[in-house]
Amino acid sequence: MQVNYWNKAVETIDREPLRELQLKQLRHMVDQAVKTHFYQRRLGKAGITGGNDIRLLDDLQKIPFTTKDDLRQNFPKGLLAVEPEQVVRMHSSSGTTGIPTVIYLTQEDLDQWTDLVARCIVATGCTKQDVFQNMMSYGLFTGGLGLHYGAERVGLMVIPIGGGNTQRQVQVMKDFRTTAVHITPSYLLHIHSRLEEFKTTPKDLFLRKAFLGAEPYSENTRCKLQDLYGIDVYNSYGLSEMNGPGVAFECVYKQDMHIWEDAYIVEIIDPATGTPLPDGEKGELVLTILRRQAMPIFRYRTRDLAFLHKDPCPCGRTHRRLSRILGRTDDMLIIGGVNVFPSQIEEVIMGVPDVGTNYMILLDKHNSLDRLTIQVEIYSKMFTGDMSEIDALKHRIKERLKASITINPHVEIHEPGSLPVFEGKAKRVIDKREKL
Ligand code: ADP
Ligand code: ZN
Repeated sequence: MQVNYWNKAVETIDREPLRELQLKQLRHMVDQAVKTHFYQRRLGKAGITGGNDIRLLDDLQKIPFTTKDDLRQNFPKGLLAVEPEQVVRMHSSSGTTGIPTVIYLTQEDLDQWTDLVARCIVATGCTKQDVFQNMMSYGLFTGGLGLHYGAERVGLMVIPIGGGNTQRQVQVMKDFRTTAVHITPSYLLHIHSRLEEFKTTPKDLFLRKAFLGAEPYSENTRCKLQDLYGIDVYNSYGLSEMNGPGVAFECVYKQDMHIWEDAYIVEIIDPATGTPLPDGEKGELVLTILRRQAMPIFRYRTRDLAFLHKDPCPCGRTHRRLSRILGRTDDMLIIGGVNVFPSQIEEVIMGVPDVGTNYMILLDKHNSLDRLTIQVEIYSKMFTGDMSEIDALKHRIKERLKASITINPHVEIHEPGSLPVFEGKAKRVIDKREKL
């Protein structure tokens, strides 16, 4: 397999010099952080007044976790560590669940971020020859601009189309012979269900690679999309608090995502106790950013559940690999007393042949008991008028779900195009139980 690097020295650095680099950067970040209202107090309480108080990497453990609530309570500038005139960009979360969170970047911070994204893009085997259609929404959401500048730095031709308008997306893909896209898994699934309408088949496209992120998806979904389009799908992970995309990305081996440890200190903790867990164990991902002057954040609780691989990757990169996001500490559903992550349901549904490209998860009460209903679209070729095939499919989905999550769901079969469409992050769970 051909392996390309953007910055070979850093990407293949030995673990010991990598740790030294982390320590140096961590000290520097602490020096920056004490300039902010928030961290001056928080670090002060932990007996840390500057970078010199950090002697070993383990001293990071003295610093308390930072949460989304900390960021909200200090909105908008409580964590700003530079003079306002040094800031050249801000990004913000959607704020649909309360006060938005905001991040700031200096020109140097933008450069660092862009460099990390460039690394990711090169790791997937993309080159200057690629035509890159960025279907993530631009604007305050980091997915658009983040990948945009990284791809330009590598020298790809960037089509900054943003999300939505499926017909136009497909036309542009054909007109400009798009070879790589950045998109949510939900939207790439949806586009496939519309191709027929535009008299297009995947063979009419020139697509080779897709970078998929912003929402959880299973290995089954990856395989399904690879088969439907005949492409390679690479997982991409990031969150706005840590800049956005570019935190972790898959290389050509597609065996989970290298997390750039010269830019982030990674911890996996037990979400209930906060205790650090060894590599290989599943827990909550906690991140410390090491390269952002404008806004240092230490030990950020991402609420994402994952684990780190122990074994090295054949590509030669020494930065550890992060598993797929297995769920979020805040999206676990309790259905009739059983704990279920939506990602478990997705994995089952997307692994059943004949299931189409869209589904929904509904929860309500029936005779005062929790009821789980799964709605799935199927391909139009399944609507032959023969109900026995559809009934058999329903039965298969039910049985597989029951075996995986131990709950007996209701399954509804829907025509293609009848369930809600998501052009960005999908919201597939509708929980009506509280309101009943
Ligand atoms: P918001 O927090 O408002 O949704 P972000 O864009 O910062 O905005 O979202 C980051 C979150 O998106 C991550 O914490 C994670 O839950 C999810 N996410 C991003 N990339 C992936 C991915 N590849 N797999 C699973 N989840 C992802
Ligand atoms: Zn690798």
